[in-house]
Amino acid sequence: MSTGQKLLSPYDKIIHAQNLISEISKLNTLYTEEKATKKDLKKIKKVLLNKHDTGFTSILDKYGIKEIEILKGVKCGICAGKMERFFGCWHCTKCKFTSKTAHVRAIEDYFLLFKPFITNRELRTFLDINFLKRQTNY
Ligand SMILES: [Zn+2]
Repeated sequence: MSTGQKLLSPYDKIIHAQNLISEISKLNTLYTEEKATKKDLKKIKKVLLNKHDTGFTSILDKYGIKEIEILKGVKCGICAGKMERFFGCWHCTKCKFTSKTAHVRAIEDYFLLFKPFITNRELRTFLDINFLKRQTNY
């Protein structure tokens, strides 16, 4: 870094959604002179939209793995056995290990394997949680 440059915290570069309009207003008062024509802005917009990349590539697609080949459910961190949700905790059916956060790793795996977001239904399916089944079984 050259001398005279101020080191900014990452939080100085982040604008929260609720502050976005006021931050844009501040920028509009700071920069009043137009540097690009409307035609240039349209070209820039088109290029940005065409070159936009979410940065996500599906590992399954890359290696030709089908979704059905991925084991669903929460895996025990101790013995790799299947864990079941019971009274707000995950319980290993094999070694009886108990965890409140065992599902976090499975969700992280989902984001890496499938896509960077998940719906409630997809989450329940992936974690192999069936609330109706549990109501009748317990
Ligand atoms: Zn276990």
